[in-house]
Amino acid sequence: MDQLPVLDPPMPQAVEHLGFEPELAAAWEHQAAARKAEAAKLTALLDYTSRVVAECHAEGGIPHQEAVRDAHLEAAMLLGVSDMTAGVILDAAGFARNHLPATWQAFHTGLIDLVRLRKIVDAGCELEDHVLAIVDAAAAEQAAARSTSDFAHWLARYIAKTDFEAYERLTRTTRTRRHVQFAHLPNGMSIVSAFLPTIEAAAIEKRLKIITRRHHSAAKDTAAQDTAATDTAATDAQQGSAGSWSREHGAGAGECGRPGQAGESPTLAQREADLFSAWLRTNPTGEPAPVEAKIMIMIPEATLTSESNDPAISADRSWALDADQARALATDTDAEHHWYQGITRPRAGDADVDVLTVTYSGRYPPQRLREAIIFRDGRCQIQGCTVAAERCDLDHQTPWDSGGQTNAANLWSLCRRHHRLKSHGHLHPPPRGDTEPTASRPPVIDLWLPTHTYP
Ligand SMILES: [Zn+2]
Repeated sequence: MDQLPVLDPPMPQAVEHLGFEPELAAAWEHQAAARKAEAAKLTALLDYTSRVVAECHAEGGIPHQEAVRDAHLEAAMLLGVSDMTAGVILDAAGFARNHLPATWQAFHTGLIDLVRLRKIVDAGCELEDHVLAIVDAAAAEQAAARSTSDFAHWLARYIAKTDFEAYERLTRTTRTRRHVQFAHLPNGMSIVSAFLPTIEAAAIEKRLKIITRRHHSAAKDTAAQDTAATDTAATDAQQGSAGSWSREHGAGAGECGRPGQAGESPTLAQREADLFSAWLRTNPTGEPAPVEAKIMIMIPEATLTSESNDPAISADRSWALDADQARALATDTDAEHHWYQGITRPRAGDADVDVLTVTYSGRYPPQRLREAIIFRDGRCQIQGCTVAAERCDLDHQTPWDSGGQTNAANLWSLCRRHHRLKSHGHLHPPPRGDTEPTASRPPVIDLWLPTHTYP
């Protein structure tokens, strides 16, 4: 029998036989090299953080935690991610380096990747030292041999068996991290994800599937009996969700601009997505007053008049809407519209006198300037930060107390976190010469300003 090639690191036993295929052996070595490089990169960033903290400490400067945050901010710029993400990654790497020798070693030899390392860290931070040592050794070995999800399940079982109380603590802590996340994609679609207790997620899944399947087969039966029917998916009047379902589907899925050919019944997967969305958008919230879901969007005038099909774009630039959908939104009689007068600015900085050039006498900017800056900035102005300007503070770049003016040139949007960093002197506004503050922005925005505030 042939000898297995000598690989560095050797393949895990379960897949060792694949090493006989030269291409697979090469792929394994490339994968290991990428993991080693990532480990070396994170080590360098951890070393940098330690040095910055030590220097600050020696100079008796800023507090420890802020020195760490400073270093993470620079790491974030280098990695091209938000400083929050950089912080999470570096905290995990730091914990592994200090407390998980076997895991850290496996990462450096290319046996495991960052995803697995972070799973071990997440589980490990709740464990007592003596349990941690046992879990570290076993997990480093298993992580190399198992797929990512299989490993996560194995790790949970192993911890529960080794230290049941720690496992309970872990599930309790993890539960506090529940959240909902929205990611807007460039193709007019978005991903909504929720990190929920499994028992709740499983119940939602069951409910969604039962109701969708009921409607789906009802629609198929009806279609089979009467092919002349346009779409009868929405004849249900007994479910709590019947209202929203009817609204979404009453006149056929095609009418909502949903995917699929006009007149064609939606697939089961599409029905699930439609019903899920309808539940969240139309069900009562239990709030004492109606909830206003305000969406700030910029629509070029030519798109509104159908002269062009340029897409509309959200104020924070995180999503776009194709021209048809933008026009449908603008003419939706169920929606309440707040119209803003637009000034077309083919080149940023070319606008006539507008609210962005006015200097106000008080410290606090009036609402009209605030709204104009939301549209101008879109997001928190720190590189890589994605917090929408709508949820940011308006900060005086040159502080009001030091003679800074209340005008658009001196105000910028900063999220609470970056605002705090700046207030503590860790963030400095970009240098401003005579150039327009918006001169480097992409010149594609038609800026829409409130009609009632335009001079
Ligand atoms: Zn920010």
